[in-house]
Amino acid sequence: MGIKIIKREGGSFKDRIYLPAILSGMKVTFSHFFKNLKDTSNIKTLNYPEEMPQDITSRYRGVHLLTKREDGSERCVACFMCATACPAECIFIEAEERTDGVDEKRPKIFTIDLLECVFCGGCVEACPCDAIRMDSGIFSFVAQKREDFLLTKERLLSHQSMKDKEC
Ligand code: SF4
Ligand code: SF4
Repeated sequence: MGIKIIKREGGSFKDRIYLPAILSGMKVTFSHFFKNLKDTSNIKTLNYPEEMPQDITSRYRGVHLLTKREDGSERCVACFMCATACPAECIFIEAEERTDGVDEKRPKIFTIDLLECVFCGGCVEACPCDAIRMDSGIFSFVAQKREDFLLTKERLLSHQSMKDKEC
């Protein structure tokens, strides 16, 4: 069996001492360092969480919210489209009959398990009523207990859309 010998690249003395490559890397690092030292307006690093980012757009996929109708009731008609589309199977809905004549059904229970959610936005895409959104602008969600990551219907309805906040 013939053995094919491949010539190794980078075997020169210059490559083996690494110094030219290190110096070229440091040149880039220091050029950015001195540029940012002179003009700090381009530095994007924030002293988080003391400093919060102010430039979150409404396209950012944050924590979910359930939208409301003009009368303050939930827009959701408990059609289960979002739960069906959810790849993480983390939306739990229990429907009940709606007796006020606005619609046939509404969710009695609507819970999202944020620990399982992968923030794909599939539920928002699947909803035919614009009842679920992810434009709350809430990107930091911390809790000490597992149960606190279960977003109930009441909590989802209490989150405000960034579009409404801008108004
Ligand atoms: S964002 Fe994706 S994973 Fe999270 S609840 Fe919606 S569909 Fe499920
Ligand atoms: S949020 Fe939208 S898709 Fe999900 S059950 Fe309600 S109406 Fe249907």
